[in-house]
Amino acid sequence: MKHLFLVALMALSTLSVQAQETFSATVDRLIDYHRGLVALENVTVFDGTGAAARTGQTIIINGGTIQTVGSSTEVIVPEGAIRVDLKGHTVTPGLVGLHNHTFYTTSQRNIQLNYSAPMLYLASGVTTIRTTGSVAPYSEINLRASIESGEAAGPYMFITGPYLRGDEAWLQGPEDAARVTAYWGEEGVDWMKVYTQVTRDELKAIVKAAHAKGVKVTGHLCSISHTEAVELGIDSIEHDLSTNTDYVKDKEPDKCPTGPWRAEYVNLDLDSEEVQHTFRTMIDNGIGRTTTPAVFEMYVQGRPMADERSLAAMSPETREEYLATYQHMSANGTPVDQWNKSLAYDLAFYRAGGLLAAGVDPTGYGGALPGYGDQRNYQLLLEAGFTPAEAVQISTLNGAKILGIEDETGSIVEGKRADLVVFEGDLISDDTTITRARIVFKDGVGFNSGRMEKAVEGNIGVR
Ligand SMILES: [Zn+2]
Repeated sequence: MKHLFLVALMALSTLSVQAQETFSATVDRLIDYHRGLVALENVTVFDGTGAAARTGQTIIINGGTIQTVGSSTEVIVPEGAIRVDLKGHTVTPGLVGLHNHTFYTTSQRNIQLNYSAPMLYLASGVTTIRTTGSVAPYSEINLRASIESGEAAGPYMFITGPYLRGDEAWLQGPEDAARVTAYWGEEGVDWMKVYTQVTRDELKAIVKAAHAKGVKVTGHLCSISHTEAVELGIDSIEHDLSTNTDYVKDKEPDKCPTGPWRAEYVNLDLDSEEVQHTFRTMIDNGIGRTTTPAVFEMYVQGRPMADERSLAAMSPETREEYLATYQHMSANGTPVDQWNKSLAYDLAFYRAGGLLAAGVDPTGYGGALPGYGDQRNYQLLLEAGFTPAEAVQISTLNGAKILGIEDETGSIVEGKRADLVVFEGDLISDDTTITRARIVFKDGVGFNSGRMEKAVEGNIGVR
């Protein structure tokens, strides 16, 4: 009986490749290239591995797979292929967004964006997300099912359970933490996320219960330092220097310190033994970190306002809320030296051999939108001192590594799934190219970015 069931499952999984080609009429209108044989010719390729870009390349997509990548002068385009001359365009792997909620916040709202978030992620080139803290896990589970069935357009989703908060309002100790974790593991989430106030005993219990269900654990930490969390078995870490209490003098165990410790970090020596110890602990244990500069930029003095298209994507009231807070933060926010230190910390971690990925975190007061904020991250990584090829790697392959799917996606390599983004422009010399996604291939299906962006306009903050 068990054997029969397995055979049926295998038959189903072969079928599902075709099943995914059945899209609802609404989704079908967003598709430019159905799954088939497509040649993207004369493009510049960032392959996601951190290697320098290669110009004059041709990529052959066959079904859902990258069949060939090579010089346009050498690759023979198979007969029957749809040939697309993309001179002046850049192709990267589909972006892997590791802190990509499907909810969104401003100072006045906290709302699930099941309509616009998945579509705007995909439009922006993000083909895989991890939701990394859910306010509505069942809603995300259903959303993932509707994307998989072709009813909705969106990225591959790794779903996270509800925020595991350690303050009195939520978890009541380690047993409670284990119970909640096991419950969501049964319900089908892939990750759990702990939040700033958990205790070490709670984290230990969460990790044990999660791993027993094949679920991984990440955290936005404070009461537990990054080094402590790695030693307690966490699988990845969120954010940056501003969430790491490793360097707070006389820190009380299990307590998020009060006082101006983040401001004091401006004087932290990144070459010091204590900083290098954090990096080594993470590297030796194979634990990566997701940096989220786009959401933190909002809180820093004198930073630019969200771009035109982001403002256009917001509903009118959402835009007003965002702009009011922006005016305030722009004058009264975090001093810029704190922000620069965080970027320098990310660069130092990467240069030491750390596994750094990126995600948008479309929360805060609303300036970092799903997808658009992932693109903004790319520009901010350049500002931190990363090369374009490194910034692409952080936005693609490194995220896939943290999710454990680097054999399927995350780089442009023959045999991998055809998750690719075509950007208009030269990403080597012009960082605004990252904002001009034109075609996004997910599993070999080419979606039209412009049509998806249009469909989202006015909806961010509402649905
Ligand atoms: Zn978050």
